[in-house]
Amino acid sequence: MFQYLMPTKIHFGRGVIENNKNDMEKLGRKAYIITGKSSSKVNGSLAQITNALERLAIKYAIFDEVEENPSIETVEKAAAIGQKENVDFVIGIGGGSPLDVAKAVAVFIKNPQINKDNIIGSQQLSYLPVVAVPTTSGTGSEVTQHSVITFHREKTKKNLGQAIFPRVAYLDSSFTDHTPYDITVNTAIDAFTHLVESYLNTNATMMSDLYCEKGLELFKSCFEHLINRNLTEKFRDSMMLASMFGGIAIAQTGTSLPHGMGYPLTYYKGLPHGLANGVLTIEYLKIFKNKDKIKRMLKLLGMDKMEQLEKVFDTLIQVDIKLTSEEILEYSSGIASNKRKLKNHPEEVGEKDIEKVYRNSFK
Ligand code: NAP
Ligand code: ZN
Repeated sequence: MFQYLMPTKIHFGRGVIENNKNDMEKLGRKAYIITGKSSSKVNGSLAQITNALERLAIKYAIFDEVEENPSIETVEKAAAIGQKENVDFVIGIGGGSPLDVAKAVAVFIKNPQINKDNIIGSQQLSYLPVVAVPTTSGTGSEVTQHSVITFHREKTKKNLGQAIFPRVAYLDSSFTDHTPYDITVNTAIDAFTHLVESYLNTNATMMSDLYCEKGLELFKSCFEHLINRNLTEKFRDSMMLASMFGGIAIAQTGTSLPHGMGYPLTYYKGLPHGLANGVLTIEYLKIFKNKDKIKRMLKLLGMDKMEQLEKVFDTLIQVDIKLTSEEILEYSSGIASNKRKLKNHPEEVGEKDIEKVYRNSFK
C-alpha cells in the first residue's frame, strides 16, 4: 500500500524558461520575484525570468534580500511588500533559501491573519501559485512541499508544516555552470543525504525508492566528477537531476536524523546546510542495524564497502569546527525530543546513539 503526490509540472533542460514561458501566463498578471542578494543576477536566471515576463506582458515586483537559512522575519517583510504590490503569483529564483521563502510568502500573502507567531501548527492554508527556478543542485525544494525557515527566537530552523508544492518548476542546470566548487560540493552532499535519508526511512515506499535508486545511481559518476573537480555540463545536468530525484523522494518520506541533527550545526556553528548533514552521514549509517538496504545503496554507488563511501566523504568534506561535550549533550537531547524526526528513522534510537554519532563525527 502506498500514496504518491508530487503535483509540480517540471520542465527540465537547458533553455526551458524561454521555451515554456507560456506556463506563467495562466498564473496571473503580476508576478512577485523572490531571490537572493546577488547570484541570480550573475548566473542569468533572473534575467531569463524577467525577459520572459516582459514578453508575456506580465508585470513584476522583485524582493532580492533573501539570506542563507532565511528567517521568518524575512518572510514577513517580503509578504508585506507583496500584499501592497497586489501580486497574483510568486516566483522563487535561487538556492533552497529563496525557494523556501517564495513558498512561505505565497501562504502569507494569501492569509493576512498569518504571522510568525501562529504559522506553526496552523491547519493547511491556501496559497498563491508558486513558480520555482532552482540555481543549486541542491535542495530539491522546487519539487517538495516543504518550506524550512529559521526562527531566531527558538534558535532553530523549522519546517512550516504547510504543503506548498510549486505549480511549475524550471530546472536549467546552466544556472549552475559557474557555481564555485565549495557551494557545488555542499549542495551536492545535501542532495545525496536526501536520497539516503529517504531510502532508509520509515515512510519509504516503492515509489520513493524508485527515485532514490535512480538518484544514487547518478551519484556513482557525480562523486568521481566532484573528486576530480571535473565539473562538466553533463555533470551539472546529472547533479540537477539527482537533486530533483532527492526532492521528489523526500516529498514522500520526509528526511531523517542527519537533517534534524544538522540544524544546530548550522544555527550555532554556521555550517552550510548540506555540509551540516554530510558531516554526520557516515556515522549515522554506521549505527544502522539493518545492513541490507545499505548494501543495496552501496551497490548503486558502485561500491561494496562502507569504507569506500567514507573515503569519498573524507575527500569532499572538510570541517574544522569542534564540539564540546556540553554542546553534544545539548544538541542530542534536543533531537531526542524531536519525535517527528525520530519517527522517520526506522529503528529504535536513543539519546546515547545520537551522542555517539555527534562524537564520532567530530573526533
Ligand atoms: P542557499 O542558502 O539558497 O544559497 C547558498 C549560497 O549559494 C548563497 O550565497 C547564494 O547566493 C549562492 N548561490 C545560489 N545559487 C548559486 C549559483 N548558481 N552560483 C553561485 N552561487 C549561488 O543554499 P541551498 O543549499 O540551495 O539551500 C539551503 C536552504 O534550503 C536551507 O535553508 C535548507 O534548510 C533549505 N532546504 C529546503 C528543502 C526543502 O525541501 N524545502 C530541502 C533541503 C534544504 P545568493 O544569496 O546571492 O543567491
Ligand atoms: Zn537538505
